[in-house]
Amino acid sequence: MDPEDKFLETLRRKKRDDLHLRFFEENGEIQSIISPIFTLFSGKKRISPYRNTYCGKAECVYDEDELVSRFKQSGLSSFVTFICHTCRKQIQLAKFCFDEALEEMIEE
Ligand SMILES: [Zn+2]
Repeated sequence: MDPEDKFLETLRRKKRDDLHLRFFEENGEIQSIISPIFTLFSGKKRISPYRNTYCGKAECVYDEDELVSRFKQSGLSSFVTFICHTCRKQIQLAKFCFDEALEEMIEE
């Protein structure tokens, strides 16, 4: 299997439907969060949404293609870290999880 397929397989296996809950836990006063369903990277294409567990904002959503592109740019390493374009925190490529809850909302 080539490294890109292996990376994708690992990425897709990490699915969670509770990734957004901590934003409510951190701030008991909020009743809803807004998450983008397009990204600058994806343009108008429907995204496959991923979140990083170290990200600081509900708006931090990444498309699968963007993660694959970063994987390639990093010399095929999933341990590369980079600065999130939204919350500016340092995050690691390996710490992304597929956001099932957001995916369901996009489908509707
Ligand atoms: Zn972020």
